[in-house]
Amino acid sequence: MIILKKKQFIVIGLGRFGRSVAITLSKLGHDVLAVDIDESKVQEISEEVTHAVQIDAMNEKILLEVGAKNFDIGIVAIGEDIQANIFVSITLKQLGINYVIAKAQNEKHANILKKIGVDKVVLPEHDMGVRLAYNLTSTSILDVIELSPEYNVVEIKAPDLWHNKNLIELNLRAKFKINILAIKSELGKINISPAGQDIIKLNDILIAVGEKEDLDKMINHFI
Ligand code: ATP
Repeated sequence: MIILKKKQFIVIGLGRFGRSVAITLSKLGHDVLAVDIDESKVQEISEEVTHAVQIDAMNEKILLEVGAKNFDIGIVAIGEDIQANIFVSITLKQLGINYVIAKAQNEKHANILKKIGVDKVVLPEHDMGVRLAYNLTSTSILDVIELSPEYNVVEIKAPDLWHNKNLIELNLRAKFKINILAIKSELGKINISPAGQDIIKLNDILIAVGEKEDLDKMINHFI
């Protein structure tokens, strides 16, 4: 796992999602300001993050007072109140926060967030559903990350037919339009910039990126 350099995060909305993001970031050693309108949510998390404050994030003046514009990354985890979620996301961008991530309730909401310039939109239930379905139905896919509506990153067991072949011989870019980003050996050693001459060994795990259709084609080819 690659751990980012210590950064400053502001997490707004401490439901299950926001709380879990805030606590995990804090455990990873980052500075976290956790914010909620509900005092009890703030109390519950106060021991577990750097700072926790009770404010209404809809109030731009108060956001400024807590220093919101000094954070590297803003995470908007307000859920049911879609209007507040959108308003706070716009405000964080306007304050000049470099990277704003917002949790969307549905596809329509996600599209609006993208249009207003939110850098990353997450749909936790949707994203988990996609991962679970792939994990349940495929023998060779170990994990999947949805990069965009078109692209996925998948972790797959190297098909038997690839053993003892190198990446040039396999010619996956030309055959399936996919790129191998990394190769993980059985012992857990990771080659993060595989070269053409690198040979695929028994029980290697490959991290591949490509269009979903192309990845499916490649995987179905070997089932
Ligand atoms: P989850 O699924 O993550 O548990 P949810 O999607 O049901 O949460 P909500 O509970 O609606 O989301 O909102 C998450 C949190 O955001 C709540 O704790 C709520 O108090 C907080 N919140 C809502 N509006 C504001 C606001 N204007 N300012 C600060 N916090 C807010």
